[in-house]
Amino acid sequence: GKLPDLELVRDIVNQAYERFADDRTGAVADYIPALARVSPDLFGISVVGVGGSDVGVGDCDHMFSIQSISKPFVFALVCEAVGAEGARARIGVNATGLPFNSVMGIELNADRTMNPMVNAGAIATTSCVPGKTAEEKFRFIQEGLSRFAGRQLEVDEEVYTSEAATNLRNRGIAKLLEGYDRMYWDALEATDIYTRQCSLNVTAKDLAVMGATLAGGGVNPITHERVIDTRNCRRVLAALATAGLYEQSGDWLFEVGLPGKSGVSGGIITIAPGKGAVSVFSPRLDEAGNSIKGQLISKYLSERLGLNLFASQ
Ligand code: GLU
Repeated sequence: GKLPDLELVRDIVNQAYERFADDRTGAVADYIPALARVSPDLFGISVVGVGGSDVGVGDCDHMFSIQSISKPFVFALVCEAVGAEGARARIGVNATGLPFNSVMGIELNADRTMNPMVNAGAIATTSCVPGKTAEEKFRFIQEGLSRFAGRQLEVDEEVYTSEAATNLRNRGIAKLLEGYDRMYWDALEATDIYTRQCSLNVTAKDLAVMGATLAGGGVNPITHERVIDTRNCRRVLAALATAGLYEQSGDWLFEVGLPGKSGVSGGIITIAPGKGAVSVFSPRLDEAGNSIKGQLISKYLSERLGLNLFASQ
């Protein structure tokens, strides 16, 4: 199946927007100073189909830092570079059931691998990116994510500087992994590259295009460029389903029935394989750091657009 007809998608997306526009629960992330300053009531929804259909409502052209939504895309690039099996051996793909920045996830796991969707595994993933210098590695990520988005993505320097000054916990996680031989580049440099990757600016529309590229087997629906191999897409989406919403990944899968990824800046993407992607931007977060409206809309649209992977029809 595909997405419903464009007019119907447009109606349903508008209904979703109206239905949840007034929800004021949750609070913006405050552990990164530059994120604490964002306007909490920004709100946009974007839906992009694998055939290039595109529906948007609200603030879907507002730029915000991609944060953790970079994780599946960098993992995809690493799967391309070292093979999906190589990526699994180095990084791991099991669910953690723990918060995004958990140290216990590392300690409790006998082989000290992680999941690429939580910070520890994501920094390990970034450490596997090809390149002879930190600069080359970052450029590889920036160019790769730009191919997913179909336009050149740039770093929000204010967010980068702000997070780089406060990311002691991520540096600690990287050093801990290094002690277990689970870092594949200098731990502090890898953390810095990861922080830069999190600071790349995107819009809700960009995220929907990026997600639709994974939904479409690795081909960008707007530029028609092949970004990653079809076989790697399904591995990335499987890893995404295990931990994309951190400790709430089970609840998410139960309700939405699709792989999804949230980020602390308020973005959330939901990927419907073979169909397309939904993205929501709304910076009010719950306790786990997931956009509240993003989750409500994702659930609503999964149902109304008939996207649930576990549905028999
Ligand atoms: N840059 C953030 C961090 O590593 C990303 C976390 C997130 O978006 O969940 O702390």
